[in-house]
Amino acid sequence: MTAELIQRLSKIVGPRFVSNAAEELYLYSMDPGTMPQAYPDAVALPKTAEEVQQIVRLAGELKVPVVPMGAGLVLSGLTRALKGGIILDMKRMNRIIKVNPLSRYAVVEGGVAQGMLQAYLKKYHPTLKHSMPDAPPIATMAGNMCIHGSGHLSVLGGSHSDMLTGMEVVLPTCEIIRTGSCSVSPDWFGRSPLPDLSGLFLGWAGTTGIVTKLGIKLFPNYAFNDMLIFVCEDADTMPDVIFRLTGVQVAEDMTPWMTPKPDWAKGFLHINIAFGAHSKKELTFKRNLLQASVRHYIDRKTAGFLPLPPTQKNRFLKVPSPDLARFADLRKGGGFEYVGAMMAIEHFPEAYRAGLEIAEKFQVSYSLGARIIGAGHAMMFFFAYAFNRADDEDVRRASEALDATNRAVLDMGGIPWKAERPAQVQIMEKMDPDTFALMTRIRATLDPNHIMNPGNWEK
Ligand SMILES: Cc1cc2nc3c(=O)[nH]c(=O)nc-3n(C[C@H](O)[C@H](O)[C@H](O)COP(=O)(O)OP(=O)(O)OC[C@H]3O[C@@H](n4cnc5c(N)ncnc54)[C@H](O)[C@@H]3O)c2cc1C
Repeated sequence: MTAELIQRLSKIVGPRFVSNAAEELYLYSMDPGTMPQAYPDAVALPKTAEEVQQIVRLAGELKVPVVPMGAGLVLSGLTRALKGGIILDMKRMNRIIKVNPLSRYAVVEGGVAQGMLQAYLKKYHPTLKHSMPDAPPIATMAGNMCIHGSGHLSVLGGSHSDMLTGMEVVLPTCEIIRTGSCSVSPDWFGRSPLPDLSGLFLGWAGTTGIVTKLGIKLFPNYAFNDMLIFVCEDADTMPDVIFRLTGVQVAEDMTPWMTPKPDWAKGFLHINIAFGAHSKKELTFKRNLLQASVRHYIDRKTAGFLPLPPTQKNRFLKVPSPDLARFADLRKGGGFEYVGAMMAIEHFPEAYRAGLEIAEKFQVSYSLGARIIGAGHAMMFFFAYAFNRADDEDVRRASEALDATNRAVLDMGGIPWKAERPAQVQIMEKMDPDTFALMTRIRATLDPNHIMNPGNWEK
């Protein structure tokens, strides 16, 4: 079967872009997280939506699984071939198709990396930007969109899937469909007023189709940018602080962080608040608004803003932030995974305390933090654990800590984001049964051959 598969895949994408070499399958069998390896039978790199279509047709005929993959950086093992089959590496589909500078959106192919669009806009449309996650810049727009990612404009624009304006998708049954305005019009301006089919492909971990194009909202790129860092000691005040800071609707990004290193940071809760303006005067006005919003705490001397020299400030203003990637190698093995819990902001204090307790119990290197989504409408609270991949004991401890964190998150009303297989099981156990039954029916309708990333979102 593998020989036939390789030969027929070669005919579709060309022999250079198919492999079942042992060393390549090894690399594609894992991601940087704790999930165990799972080997695919083959890796294929298509160049066009038609090639994707032909691969899916072949997979349906041979009943072979297909696992779509961007950069494979999801950390929760969602691009591992749990039942073998083909990993469809999208990186060759890397064209930036168009930018509409007036209506502020871009249309890109399904393998375009975050860093590619960032560099393109910097060169050709310097007054525009898109929201970048803090993932390494090779992470793809589609991979991040498919998992409801978030990034440095998420206070302004919500989660990244809220910034999606439409998609082209190859269905498991091989049709190429479009969602949003682009299904009717040449313009990719948005998802209303039609029935919103985009949801059929967001949050499904690649089990319902392969995104070959997507439209994404762009935002003004300010000439002047600044950051304030708010510091306090009392976790119980954080929901109110976030409520006040988001209430003035000035920040583009707000990221609370709590880490034991460096020593000066231990025990304190920080919030990085990034904002920008078209002029220095506007920047000062916005800074004043933010500072005034939390004056209540400053006057009581229970909190304050951290004075930062410009060099330090510039480091914090880097997009994407290098800090998480640095933390990922804390244990010198490059192993890193986090529970990103989507939850309401009032759960901040219990999430913080649970994170500290779990890190202490399982003796793991931790970094806790959050990204505020919208005007305080939700947050992605992260519990990140670094480990040395070569140290089995270290990996086991991190795995157990992640499992305990997923349970704690669900108990406090949150939902693990981009859930790894064990976390999916915990979510499915808690989900309203009729809702899960509908999910299963939708998936069976879209994918009657059950070839798309099987093993995910199923009991
Ligand atoms: C240091 C670090 C920091 C991070 N910070 C952030 C952050 O700030 N915000 C954030 O959102 N994430 C963050 N992440 C998590 C993750 O890396 C990103 O979300 C990243 O954008 C995922 O993109 P990817 O191309 O690697 O996706 P992949 O891992 O390749 O895929 C993710 C999921 O999407 C599916 N998929 C991929 N491409 C397609 C496609 N074309 N069609 C259909 N399904 C597809 C896959 O099957 C999988 O289920 C971080 C990760 C690291 C390592």
